[in-house]
Amino acid sequence: MATFRQRALNEAATHPAERFSVEDRPVSKYFGQNVLTLDKMRAYMSKQAYEAVLAAVRFGAKLDRSVSNEIATGMKAWAMEMGATHYTHLFQPLTDSTAEKHEAFIMVKDGQAFERFSGSALVQQEPDASSFPNGGLRNTFEARGYSAWDPSSPVFIMDGTLCIPSVFVSYTGEALDTKVPNLKSIQALSDAATSVANLFDDNVTSVGVNLGIEQEYFLVDESLYNARPDLVLCNRTVIGHTSAKDQQLEDHYFGAIPSKVSAFMKDFETEAYKLGILLQTRHNEVAPNQFECAPLFCEATNAIDQNMMLMIIMQKIAEKHHLKVIFHEKPFDGVNGSGKHCNWSMMTNTGVNLLSPGKTPTKNLQFLSFFSAVVNAVYKHHYLLMAGVSNLSNSYRLGGNEAPPAVMSVFAGSTLSNIFEAIGNMQALKEENNLESIKIVNSLPEIFPDNTDRNRTSPFAFTGNRFEFRAVGSSINVASAIYILNSVVAESLNRFRAEVDALVAAGEDKSQAIMSVIRKFTVESKDIMFEGNGYSKEWEAESERRGLRAVKNVPESYEVYHEKQTVDLFVNLGVLTADEVEARFEILNETYVKKLQIEARVIGDICLNHVIPAAVKYQNILIENVKGFKEIFGDEYKSLCASEFAALKKISTYINNISKDVEELVEARKRANKIEDIALRAKIYSKEVKDYMDKVRYSADHLEMIIDDEMWPLPKYRELLFF
Ligand code: ADP
Ligand code: MG
Repeated sequence: MATFRQRALNEAATHPAERFSVEDRPVSKYFGQNVLTLDKMRAYMSKQAYEAVLAAVRFGAKLDRSVSNEIATGMKAWAMEMGATHYTHLFQPLTDSTAEKHEAFIMVKDGQAFERFSGSALVQQEPDASSFPNGGLRNTFEARGYSAWDPSSPVFIMDGTLCIPSVFVSYTGEALDTKVPNLKSIQALSDAATSVANLFDDNVTSVGVNLGIEQEYFLVDESLYNARPDLVLCNRTVIGHTSAKDQQLEDHYFGAIPSKVSAFMKDFETEAYKLGILLQTRHNEVAPNQFECAPLFCEATNAIDQNMMLMIIMQKIAEKHHLKVIFHEKPFDGVNGSGKHCNWSMMTNTGVNLLSPGKTPTKNLQFLSFFSAVVNAVYKHHYLLMAGVSNLSNSYRLGGNEAPPAVMSVFAGSTLSNIFEAIGNMQALKEENNLESIKIVNSLPEIFPDNTDRNRTSPFAFTGNRFEFRAVGSSINVASAIYILNSVVAESLNRFRAEVDALVAAGEDKSQAIMSVIRKFTVESKDIMFEGNGYSKEWEAESERRGLRAVKNVPESYEVYHEKQTVDLFVNLGVLTADEVEARFEILNETYVKKLQIEARVIGDICLNHVIPAAVKYQNILIENVKGFKEIFGDEYKSLCASEFAALKKISTYINNISKDVEELVEARKRANKIEDIALRAKIYSKEVKDYMDKVRYSADHLEMIIDDEMWPLPKYRELLFF
């Protein structure tokens, strides 16, 4: 009988490579067609209602009931023209995915069928959301939460449903999602950045955050994927011997895209374009079957919403192509993992990128102010930023030899880092030094264009006019990383302005005061600057010597949420309350435990139900073989069957080790599960349960190398990675 794997391989071989999208118009003809933009809205509602939406979008103004009814009616008219039958609030609970509950427009009253959509349904929905993570913010007796329309993100249609981007809060108002703190952090950053920008330009009244999110992913044939219980349940392989060939020839990166994959890419891009997602790049990544796409950057909230939509679309379209998209950070041991590089910058309402060095000395002084404030923020909260992107799946990637290290540092490029070193080395800014600094500031525009060097090993790199936060994992909702980044920078900019004001009040000249604070910030944070190889052993030692804290253990890193400087940061800026911080701490630990628990169960099941039975079958064949030799050759069989004996013994040893280790793994889990305190339970899980998983994997992977290929039950790495 064919194994599950052989059937899967046969199926995979017959999956066609074809396009499914019928769209052959130029993209410009259908770009954004499924989104109700402000422009389109105008045609579906009165001027008064439209202006109310505009005020809500631009200034967060509240909508009154009569206006919201009219807006809902307009939206419904558009949605029905587009063929929609349902609507849903779409929110981003603390699970790294989106949540939706569809309601039909259709209603019957007095025998009359009609479509209905009220203002209150638009503005607020009450999903029975008691099973979303809440970290103790909702007691069961008031387990209600509600979602509320966030007018700053446009509504759109997906699969015949009108989707209404929403925030998700508890009945008592605490945030149960990633969107609320993100919106608040953007506001806090806008206020802080505006106050610093006003040192240079009075016309700045607000500052927005721009984000360009690069998405890395793996593609695996659907049949092969379904034949691997670990991929289905954990999104990563918990066992699997590395393939003889993987990425060592570096022949996949930027290579020609296979036709099957390009058919898939074109189809999902078409759907993304219809949703107004401006995808710009696509290419092969370093690992086999690993790819990347990136949209043009846009305002951060929209960029995040779009990334969440993009992940859904990619998964849906992949099904049509008999493919599975794997967003996990480290689905395969031994080859590169996936990240979601977040390109981040600040832009004034007057259209100035505050991280772009300008052509004049004042512009450059402004650039140096913002740059040094960001670096100082990253230095002060380096551990929080790293902990903020740490979870079980990213922990398999970070600190690996191909991913950002688990300790934070900032890469600035040689030109900039020389400038900052010079600034740092200057004595207090007396007259002659001030001249020196002006010279530095003046010379920036000339030297800057040369600054093109890139450092792939840095977790946080300056790339010309933005920072690229590379430690962020490929599977998460990046809002949880971005609101931390926004917050730490907002705090730093507030201090920057306050210190400049204090010096000016003490009689110092404004430019000199600004330069003094840039210098102070630079000196304080010089230890976070690192231009070298982040993967090297030397950096591990050097970063420790500098006092930089690495994330060595995920649940331990979550303790940063109990540190005063973290709680103060979020509370003072109004991004999270102390209770909300604590709730997030709980949820992070809970999620860690649950995911590791699932992985531990899966590896146990796979080994007991797939690996060991296959090993025993192979042993029996060997035993039959030995018996045959004995019949034919008599006593000589002993020397003739030496290799069979050795194999039989090896197999037995691995089988016994697996049985023993799985048993101990189960015991370790049981012990850990008895621990009430969730943070402590997570720590025990990470220390004890993980160790046993490594041991079990070691034996299983060795068995894979011994057992007859035809009998091995699970698709192998070479098949998953090179279909
Ligand atoms: P790479 O892989 O070389 O880092 P990509 O072209 O894949 O670069 O992605 C770069 C991303 O950075 C894109 O999403 C791009 O729109 C975005 N980006 C460019 N300039 C800015 C900026 N000023 N602020 C934020 N994002 C930016
Ligand atoms: Mg990048």
